[in-house]
Amino acid sequence: MLSVTEALEEVSRHAFRLPTQECLAIEAMGMALAEDVISPVESPAFDKAMMDGFALIAADTEGGSVNLEIVDEITAGNTASEALEPGQAARIMTGAPMPPGADSVIMVEDTQIDSENVDRVQIFQPVKQGSHVLKKGGLLGKGQVVIPAGSVIRPIEVGILADLAGAKALVRRRPTVAIISTGDELVGPEVEPGPGQIRNTNGPMLEAMAIAAGATVKQLGIVRDNRDDLCAAIKEGLQADVLLISGGMSVGVKDFGPTLLAEQGVEKVFHKVQLKPGKPLWFGKQGGTDNPTMVFGLPGNPASSLVCFHLFVRTALNELMGRTQDSPFVSGFLLTRDFVNPGNRPVFFPALASRKDGGGATIAPLAWKGSADIATLAQANALACFEANSQYEAGQFVSAVMI
Ligand code: AMP
Ligand code: MG
Repeated sequence: MLSVTEALEEVSRHAFRLPTQECLAIEAMGMALAEDVISPVESPAFDKAMMDGFALIAADTEGGSVNLEIVDEITAGNTASEALEPGQAARIMTGAPMPPGADSVIMVEDTQIDSENVDRVQIFQPVKQGSHVLKKGGLLGKGQVVIPAGSVIRPIEVGILADLAGAKALVRRRPTVAIISTGDELVGPEVEPGPGQIRNTNGPMLEAMAIAAGATVKQLGIVRDNRDDLCAAIKEGLQADVLLISGGMSVGVKDFGPTLLAEQGVEKVFHKVQLKPGKPLWFGKQGGTDNPTMVFGLPGNPASSLVCFHLFVRTALNELMGRTQDSPFVSGFLLTRDFVNPGNRPVFFPALASRKDGGGATIAPLAWKGSADIATLAQANALACFEANSQYEAGQFVSAVMI
């Protein structure tokens, strides 16, 4: 049986990159840039005042107290009408271009204007040359990489793309994810479950996780545990980049998944991984076509399905989208209480991660009653990772998967 690390490597190894497309930056939120964003210009494009005040020649103020003639007023979006001469100053606002000849800005708060003589400004202290001026090209050189390929587009990137790239982004298209929920026992949300029946939790939950991970979803609904229905659904699902099959992938008498997938040319990469919950995970790939598909058979148990999604499906989606900087694990959480994992598989345990004022991030394993307990899972924002056959003490550092 593969370890989690080995299984993650297999998923990454069988992943492929989706084709790129140009789209509006705002619509590319959460996607990864497929190329570097390069500044086409110097920024700022001109020497820029960084304070409301007066543009002046620093050498004029060397003696300390000096009185300068106000010859201009430059607001943001306008330019100086003439160059400054020694003994002159220009009233200037934040963001406005410096007048030629001036080299420094003094804040308006550090000056005084006599009401008798409003055309002159009094300076009291020498001004350091270059004060409150952002030099042309001081932030970005022409041709400089501003955002490297692979970066995820967040609001700051949307702003930068608007500034430098016409508000457009080259990204890999969103992966399509088809979802099949297998089980004779399943009913939809509108149906009152009869004897032996349960509602389909996984279908909607997997859809929500796939959307949150940046994918677009095709819900193929509840499929009964019979060959014909499942075969038809699998054929349709293999049109997508990723096919998720919840339940029916084990060795039960009605678990037709593995056989039917093989019939459709899906090659098994692995079945079962050393983790808890989520051991029955099945992974395969339909390759060699123009339209490859990564197929995950997720355990029917919702908690197991959730854990497997966050570890393995999210890794696959990140690879497809070129979000190569993402890892499922975040390290350095301080454990708030002792924890024992007597089992022979690593445990991904529902926990509450928080950031204490002044301290590091802590993680508190919740009072989880096992994989059927989805109510406690709903209180968690992380899965704390514990090695097999291990004992942890409060204050030790552990890593976690954010959910
Ligand atoms: P299976 O993997 O099909 O053997 O199912 C394992 C357990 O998960 C069984 O108790 C199923 O009833 C339950 N289960 C299967 N599919 C779902 C689903 N879509 N939503 C909620 N529970 C499910
Ligand atoms: Mg089943």
